Amino acid sequence: MTAPTKAEPLTAAEAQARVLAGARPLDVERVALDDSLGRVLAQDVVAPVSLPPWNNAGMDGYAVRADDVREAARDHPTMLTVIETIAAGAQPTRVVGRGEAARIMTGAPIPAGADSVVRVEDTDGGADTVMVLDARDAGHNVRPRGEDVRSGEAVLRAGTAIGPAQLGLLASVGAASVAVRRRPRVAVLSTGDELADVTDFDAVRGGRRIVNSNGPAICALVRDAGGIPTALGIVRDDPEEMRAAVERAAGHDLLITTGGVSVGAFDYTRDVLRALGAELSVWRVRIRPGAPTGFGRLGAMPWLGLPGNPVSSLVTFELFARPLMRALAGHTRLFRRTIPVRLDESLTLAAPLTHFLRVTLHPASDDGLPRVRLTGGQGSGLLSSMARADALLVVPPDRSEYEAGERLEAIPLGDGGSFGESSTLGSP
Ligand code: AMP
Ligand code: MG
Repeated sequence: MTAPTKAEPLTAAEAQARVLAGARPLDVERVALDDSLGRVLAQDVVAPVSLPPWNNAGMDGYAVRADDVREAARDHPTMLTVIETIAAGAQPTRVVGRGEAARIMTGAPIPAGADSVVRVEDTDGGADTVMVLDARDAGHNVRPRGEDVRSGEAVLRAGTAIGPAQLGLLASVGAASVAVRRRPRVAVLSTGDELADVTDFDAVRGGRRIVNSNGPAICALVRDAGGIPTALGIVRDDPEEMRAAVERAAGHDLLITTGGVSVGAFDYTRDVLRALGAELSVWRVRIRPGAPTGFGRLGAMPWLGLPGNPVSSLVTFELFARPLMRALAGHTRLFRRTIPVRLDESLTLAAPLTHFLRVTLHPASDDGLPRVRLTGGQGSGLLSSMARADALLVVPPDRSEYEAGERLEAIPLGDGGSFGESSTLGSP
């Protein structure tokens, strides 16, 4: 049992640092390319071939010698003899000599002798002879072998997160399977005598229970963050029952509990973890919501004790669990990018804590910054305020009053980055 290393509540950044200290990427596994989206490469991937593998046509048109078409113009076209047609997937069979052209399709190998592809729109499209009507493509539209990737080159480095473009690149260099970091397996445990499973809703209708909403919401966040949740269900506020449940989490890469970390008479979570030998490094954090967040290690397994209030548990998952899971999964970018925003209303904060307020994002004002409005009441039990939020507004602890129009930072949530009401591409 270890006493807290710092009795005072930590700042959010201090607590994050303690949660992340000692987090190492999990072991390596090989997965099929199609299953690699969102995973992190464990090894450099070296290209066994060059891409493109041959000099090829960048346009549908005619492969020609630049010197033959430099004088071409609509009012005095250059006539060339078409010696063959080369489709993508075909090989040229002849050398293009002076006064000659090969009809060629985008991607097809450039025949020997040719150094340019005249786009079809600048010709009469002829089959036996062709009239070239413009000189602008002389010396152009040949994509050289190895322009994209060179054989022997590391195309992607260990530590790279695999998105759709990376996945396509891996396919193009023949990586049918890839070595990636294992996904974190996360055990999720909800504590509270008042809780019932959603399938047990009669007890809720009867006015005796509330639904365990944290369990499903935290499991969803785990999946969303690239992990594999195990729902350990509900345990009553009973140290013995809780101890048994925590033991069922053995073998997981992370245990997340919700509830029972406050100062109530039945808040046993910390005591149980400590009795099992956990070293606790975070007890309280100077944030709202989420102050009673705890963190420690039970042997090799990290434990995050999130508060029971539904908003608190979701916000503290964002602040602590998601970055930790990303570190375990091998990511080097652990945190969501914050965006600058402008307040659309004034704020009064009741305590000198960093606040994470639920806000909606609205189209930018003149200065290009999105505007934010509170989703409504900010109580930590108001799950609907979280469900309506596009982002968490980060309000520093040093002031209690903010005017409408002031600039702050926000953390977009989920799809909250897509808040434009119209396309950024302009009108159709
Ligand atoms: P606690 O942190 O255990 O003191 O819980 C704080 C508040 O959150 C109480 O009102 C609980 O009823 C509520 N709560 C705790 N756990 C959950 C849960 N899993 N789902 C929904 N509400 C919860
Ligand atoms: Mg409780």
